[in-house]
Amino acid sequence: MSHARTGIYEIHDPRFRHLIVSSAALEELYSGCRWAEGPVWFGDLDCLVFSDIPNQRLLRYVPDSGVSVLRSPSNFANGNTRDRQGRLITCEHGGRRVTRTETDGRITVLADRFEGKRLNAPNDVVVKSDGSIWFTDPTYGILSDYEGYKAEPELATHNVFRLDPATGGLAIVVDDFGQPNGLAFSPDEKQLYVADSASSHDENWPSHIRVFDVLENGKLENSRVFAVIDKGLPDGFRLDISGNLWTSAGDGVHCFAPDGTLLGKILVPQTVANLTFGGPRRNRLYITATQSLYAIYLTTTGAQWP
Ligand code: MG
Repeated sequence: MSHARTGIYEIHDPRFRHLIVSSAALEELYSGCRWAEGPVWFGDLDCLVFSDIPNQRLLRYVPDSGVSVLRSPSNFANGNTRDRQGRLITCEHGGRRVTRTETDGRITVLADRFEGKRLNAPNDVVVKSDGSIWFTDPTYGILSDYEGYKAEPELATHNVFRLDPATGGLAIVVDDFGQPNGLAFSPDEKQLYVADSASSHDENWPSHIRVFDVLENGKLENSRVFAVIDKGLPDGFRLDISGNLWTSAGDGVHCFAPDGTLLGKILVPQTVANLTFGGPRRNRLYITATQSLYAIYLTTTGAQWP
């Protein structure tokens, strides 16, 4: 398929031109990570929290001020988000658990076992407006000692879980992914998107994002392939207010329309792991990519809480 290349952008569909600022630069805000992941925006504190997994650090970027260490060791923290009370929710490879950081700094374990068996290595997490916490549990964090502690998985499948905040009950909502990774809801929360990144270790797995219908009872149905990634694989992603999906990929950030059409790409010099919308207008896309944190202004704005 033909596309136009203009600077850092690949235009695959004319609609993409209305989402980007053609003159905007891809700004490198920080470098020095080993694998940057898990960006989450704190609008009230005007800062971005993100993970540097192998370096055991949670980092904090303050615009015009720079990056400092928020927590080290981080227990190989990966994906981060905020719950509806604004508290930091973190996936830890090291602890093989999902935690909540309370407002006084104490850490509460939300989930570390399913039916008595240890989780693999929670990777990415999102909170629905009803307070339920949804996270993926691939095995990346226990494959070696680089991003966690090498161990054999105790669970037979690599699942997406739903945690009920009222009861603490944990339920498997999907169990047929190779390596479930990033996840996000559509703006109306009627769909859940989940990335499969299993092609990282087995080329027989597809490099794609699937979408499910979300039922009232918290279950998922009607699984179908939403988009296939043509360069590298999908890790973390977010949606904008129009339901366009902005995902990490091997050559940068790919943007897909709600119907799955590839609209365009932002080319990034390093492999992108994850991204999130931030800034007071939520129109700045923060991108974690291997060693660096990047940002770029868009004309669209993020839909995803926070
Ligand atoms: Mg991830």
